[in-house]
Parts: sequence; C-alpha cells; structure tokens
Amino acid sequence: QAKQNGRNRFHGFDAILARSQREQHIQIQRLGQALEHGEFTLYLQPQVDMDSGAVVGAECLVRWRHPQEGVLAPGAFLPALEGTELEIPFGEWVFAEALRCIATLRRQGLALPLGINIAARHLQQPGFARWILGCLDSHPDAPAALVKLEITESAALYDVEHVAAELAQLRAQGITVALDDFGTGYSSLTYLRRLPMDTLKIDQSFVRDMLVDPGDLAIVQGVIGLARSFGLGVIAEGVETAQQGQRLQQLGCPLAQGYYIARPMPLEDFVHWVAHWKLPAGWQAETPT
Ligand code: C2E
Ligand code: MG
Ligand code: MG
Ligand code: MG
Repeated sequence: QAKQNGRNRFHGFDAILARSQREQHIQIQRLGQALEHGEFTLYLQPQVDMDSGAVVGAECLVRWRHPQEGVLAPGAFLPALEGTELEIPFGEWVFAEALRCIATLRRQGLALPLGINIAARHLQQPGFARWILGCLDSHPDAPAALVKLEITESAALYDVEHVAAELAQLRAQGITVALDDFGTGYSSLTYLRRLPMDTLKIDQSFVRDMLVDPGDLAIVQGVIGLARSFGLGVIAEGVETAQQGQRLQQLGCPLAQGYYIARPMPLEDFVHWVAHWKLPAGWQAETPT
C-alpha cells in the first residue's frame, strides 16, 4: 500500500518535472529565435559627473523587443538563459552589439566608454580574452579604451586565478573593468585583492536606503574608502533623488548613474539626451516632497 502510494506520488512528480522541462525547452527555443530575428536591443543609461555635469559614459542594458509583449527588461528572460547553451552566443551578441554602439556614437562625436555586462559563465569560457580581442580586431572603429567590462562578484567564480589572467590580458590592451553590484557578494574583498580592475560600482541597494539606513550609509562610505585605498574609480548606481546625489558628492563619489539622471534608453534617444542634458541647478534644486 505504502509502496503503491509512493510510486503514484513519484509518477505525479515525474509528470510535473517533465512538463516544466518541456516548458523550459520551449522558452529556450523562443529565446534562440529572438536572437536570430534580432529582437534584442541594447539600451544606454548615462553615467555622469555630478560636480561638472560631464557625461562620462553609459551602461549597455539589454532589452527584448517582444512582438506581443512589448519591451521586456532582462529580469524577464535572463534567468531562463542562465546555464543553457544559449548563454554564450547571447553574451557574444551583446558584446558585438555594444561595439557597434561604441562605433556609432563615435561617428556622432561621442567617444564615450560603454559598460558591457558580462555573465560569469561567459567570463570563464576558455579563450574569453582571445575572443574579445578578436572581436575588437574586426571592429576597428571601436577602440579598446572605450570598452568597459562589468563583471559581478555575486556569481561564483570557480577559478579566480584564471579570470584574473584573462582580465590582465584585456587590460593590457586598454580595456577597463568594473566590479558591478559591489558589496552584495560573499567575497568582495577577496575579488578586490585578486582581480585586476579599474572601477567599483556601488550597488543600488545600498544607495537606495543610504539616507535612512545608517548601515547602508556605512557600506557606501566603506566602498568609497576602499576604492580610494586601492586606487580605483567609483560610481554609484541607482541614484533616484537629488538628495542621494548630494550626499554621494559629499562622501567623495561624484560619478553616478540612476533614474534621477536618466532611465536606460535607445541609442538614438541617448544621442539626443546628451545634447540636451544639463546638470540640475546646483544639483540641489529638488525640494523635499
Ligand atoms: P546591473 O548591471 O546592476 O544594471 C543596473 C540595473 O539597475 C538596470 O536594470 C537599470 O535599469 C537599473 N537601474 C538604473 N538606475 C536605477 C535607479 O535609479 N533605480 C532603480 N530601481 N533601478 C535602476 P536592468 O536593465 O533591468 O538590468 C538588470 C540586470 O540585468 C543588470 O544589473 C545586469 O546584471 C543584467 N543585464 C542587463 N543587461 C545585460 C546584458 O546585456 N548581459 C548580461 N549578461 N547581463 C545583463
Ligand atoms: Mg551592470
Ligand atoms: Mg549593478
Ligand atoms: Mg544590480
């Protein structure tokens, strides 16, 4: 009797598993088609110097222009890609498309470094550096100095030494490296010590609550201090209010990215935005609501 029940339960579970595998398979197929049909696009989010108002760069953020559902943010499809055979071709498309953005902006007089998000699995792919450099060779109008790789420390890097060697090879050619979502992983300090890099990105979760949560403020101050000690640049992400921007400036972090400055936007809009962007009057203009 018990055995019988157990088997039925097992069969039921099996069926659910089989269905979810089928659904996953369909979703992967759909994402593969989207890649082939050119349904992905990169939006650009500006990064500015809050002291001078200068636009110092932008981050490339992928969007899926879904024919039925409209523009989808990465949270809606990246998790499904993770760990599949599509993850690397997708990452390669992102990188090549980012180089095309760099070249297009440069032709319009905007020689700006673009931040390109690299998945941990892509980064650890054998021959990653060689592939990146080969890609740069075939896009001579996108110079290495305008390529900034954004890597996260939250995804476990199983071979930090290998990744460090690959990054060193890329930096020797003028590519820069930013550590994204800094402070949210397990081994921030280890990575800081062992990975060659140029910039720390303060995670938006700390910026969001820094004015109300002393713990988050302490982390923001800590990251700014670490950047200084290690001779690295630092940029805050997720700046949503003038007050956050002012506080960051006081703490010694003038570079920022966030909705208060601009949301991610298509490349054509970005060009227009740069031409019209002005530093908010004194950056102090906003009155508390
Ligand atoms: P991320 O690299 O940390 O990117 C910053 C995210 O914060 C973006 O979300 C951006 O739209 C959002 N953001 C910027 N300013 C603000 C703000 O003021 N407030 C709030 N609440 N959010 C803000 P998005 O575009 O949805 O991307 C989410 C994540 O998806 C990225 O986090 C990155 O890890 C990943 N991702 C995006 N594009 C790519 C890509 O092309 N390749 C890979 N591998 N990952 C990507
Ligand atoms: Mg990023
Ligand atoms: Mg980030
Ligand atoms: Mg993030």
